Amino acid sequence: MKVSINKEDCVGCGLCADDCSDVFEMQEDVAIVKAEKVPENLVSAVKEATENCPVDAIIISE
Ligand code: SF4
Repeated sequence: MKVSINKEDCVGCGLCADDCSDVFEMQEDVAIVKAEKVPENLVSAVKEATENCPVDAIIISE
């Protein structure tokens, strides 16, 4: 599974970095992805972060 963030949509709330700090990190006022290819053990945390993002800025793909 791969993950990316639509920086145009991100409002910098920090929720994704709270949910999964191994993959998401705040950089100034937007989130960035530290690991585009998500390790198997972090898949559920990334899916949770995706569901929790208030503006649906996190995009996951196979
Ligand atoms: S949860 Fe969504 S809006 Fe909040 S920092 Fe992460 S990507 Fe941006």
